Amino acid sequence: MKAWEKNIRKVVPYVPGEQPKVDDIVKLNTNENPYPPAKGVSRALLEFDSNELKLYPDPTIEELKSTLAEYYGVNVNEVFVGVGSDDVLAMAFLTFFNSDKPILFPDITYSFYPVWADLYKIPYECPKLDENFMMVKEDYYKENGGIIFPNPNAPTAICNDLGFIEDIVKNNQESVVIVDEAYVDFGGESAIELTKKYENLLVVQTFSKSRSMAGMRIGYAIGSKDLIKAMEDVKYSFNSYTMNMTAIKSGVEAVKDDEYFKETKKKIVTTRENTAKSLKALGFDMTDSKANFLFVTHKKYAARDIYEYLRTKHIFVRYFNLPRIDNYLRITIGTDEQMEKLIKALEEYCEKAVSTS
Ligand code: PMP
Repeated sequence: MKAWEKNIRKVVPYVPGEQPKVDDIVKLNTNENPYPPAKGVSRALLEFDSNELKLYPDPTIEELKSTLAEYYGVNVNEVFVGVGSDDVLAMAFLTFFNSDKPILFPDITYSFYPVWADLYKIPYECPKLDENFMMVKEDYYKENGGIIFPNPNAPTAICNDLGFIEDIVKNNQESVVIVDEAYVDFGGESAIELTKKYENLLVVQTFSKSRSMAGMRIGYAIGSKDLIKAMEDVKYSFNSYTMNMTAIKSGVEAVKDDEYFKETKKKIVTTRENTAKSLKALGFDMTDSKANFLFVTHKKYAARDIYEYLRTKHIFVRYFNLPRIDNYLRITIGTDEQMEKLIKALEEYCEKAVSTS
C-alpha cells in the first residue's frame, strides 16, 4: 500500500440502475416516466440564449423556489432546491444527521441511504419491515439521531397514510424526520401539509418521476424555515452554484403546466392498474402500489429467471439480489404499448415454462 492510500476515504458506492445504450429496448428498470416533459420545458430550452452561460447562475435559485412555494402554498424560505433529490437528500444527511445516536430507516428501502450514512460516518439502524413489507411505526419510537424513509417506499411501492407519518413525527420531536416522496404523486398523500405543524419534518420530492425530467436533475425539499436555513448554510459551504440556468428555467415551466402534470400522472396510474390485472392473471402476486412501478413475485417461477428471460427479449426490469426480496421484480410503468410487450413476453415465458416442466 502506498503511504497516501491510507488517507483515502473508502466507500462502497451506490449502483444506479442500468442505462443500456441500445435503442430497441423496453426500459422498465429505473422508474423513469415514459412521457415527455411539459411543452413549456422544450420551449424554454429552445429559447435559451447560450450567451447567458458566460455568467454564473443565480445561486439562490429564487425563480424556481418561488414557483414551487406558490404551487405548494408555502413561503420561499421553506423551499430548498438541488440537483435531483439525490443531491437534496445527500445535503439533508450532511445537515441533519449529525448525532452519535443511530439514524433509523427500514431494512428494505432506497439503497442510497446506507451509502450516504457510510460516506458521512453516520451510525444507522434498520428496523425490519414486517412480513407484508409494512413499516412498523413503533420501531421508530426509540432514541435516534434522525429518521428517513420513502413514502411510498421503494422498491416495495407501499404507501402509508398521513396519520402514520404524523405519529412518527410527533413521537420524534427531538430528531429531524425526512420523508422522501420521490413517488408520492402516483397515488400517495404528501406530508407537505404537516410541515406547517412540525418544524422537525422535511419532505423531499423530485422532478425525475412525475414531471418526466430525470435527465435535468431537479429535486427539492420543503420544511420549516429553520430546517431550510440549515440546509442552505451547508449547501453554501459545499457548492453555491448547484442549479444550472437551463434547469432553473425548464423547472419553472414544468411546475406552471399543472394540467399536463395531472394528465400524465393519471395515465401512469391507469396503466399501472391495467398492468397489475394482467400480471395477476399470469400468476403474479404484488404489493398494493401507489408508485410508478409494481413490485411483483410469481407463485411458481423465480424472479431472477424471469428477469433474465426478459433481458433476452430486450425488456429491462429491476432485480435486486438482496435478502427477503430476491424473488421479486420491480417493474416501472411505461406506456400502454410497452406494458403490452412486457405482458406478451411474460405470457410466452409462462407457456414455455409449463411445456418444459
Ligand atoms: N428517492 C428514491 C426513493 C428514489 O427511488 C430515487 C430514484 N433513484 C431518488 C430518491 C432520487 O431521484 P432523483 O435524484 O432523480 O431525484
